[in-house]
Amino acid sequence: MKIAIMGAMVEEVDPFLEIGEHEPLLKYFSKHEDVEYGGNTYHIARYRDLDIVLAYSKIGKVFASLTAATMIEHFACEKLLFTGVAGAVDPALKIGDLVAATQLCQHDLDISAFGHPHGYVPEGKVYIEPSRELLHIAKEVANEKGIELKKGIIATGDQFIADNERKEWIARTFDADAIEMEGAAVAAVCDAFDIPFFVLRAISDAADMDAAFDFDEFLKHSSRLSSSFIVSMLEKLSQRERSTKVRDRS
Ligand code: SAH
Repeated sequence: MKIAIMGAMVEEVDPFLEIGEHEPLLKYFSKHEDVEYGGNTYHIARYRDLDIVLAYSKIGKVFASLTAATMIEHFACEKLLFTGVAGAVDPALKIGDLVAATQLCQHDLDISAFGHPHGYVPEGKVYIEPSRELLHIAKEVANEKGIELKKGIIATGDQFIADNERKEWIARTFDADAIEMEGAAVAAVCDAFDIPFFVLRAISDAADMDAAFDFDEFLKHSSRLSSSFIVSMLEKLSQRERSTKVRDRS
């Protein structure tokens, strides 16, 4: 099984690569090679029984789509896990909280002048849902590790939101819980190619006046919380892979 692990910023994938300033998360992540492709670096690695392709896309929907499509079409990844940080829309979400997307939408996709709902274009859909199986694995990991994993709607757009009015509009229009700049793009690509995916975000800010300041302060810490959870999911996926192989052999 080949798994794509994707972030948007270098800080979001750093913890997997042992190049961060903190203790390496993946001491047992055997790194085979780095491949340059389409303006990005893809780290080809192995984690226990899984093949891994790890990369950050750069910020925003266009780069995220490029990377997700490359992971699937060029590197033949069969599942995609996204890890990163997000702004909180739901006031109950605090910095460091982990949110798994149950639905993703594009808050800046707007042809409403033609009477269409926000986030909708013909032949598309407003909300895309991640894999139920991966959400279930996430729930198991959270239960086993005693980690509180929240679930919610993630709204994506090519804007860093640091404004209460815009945030409240997004909350009202999409019933969103968190906001970021890549998730729905990755979702659209995975949905088109029928690739199970999962989007995890740790809250870095409240998408308000202080968002840029909070973001800088909490980016690394929140990125680490998210990537560490993804590692636990890899562990579970690896166990499943092993038992499938054993079953197939017998
Ligand atoms: N400080 C960075 C820019 C960060 S943009 C620089 O100067 O290069 C914010 C990134 O974190 C995006 O990848 C987005 O997905 C996520 N994010 C976190 N908080 C956000 C918010 N309030 N609004 C939009 N995206 C947010």
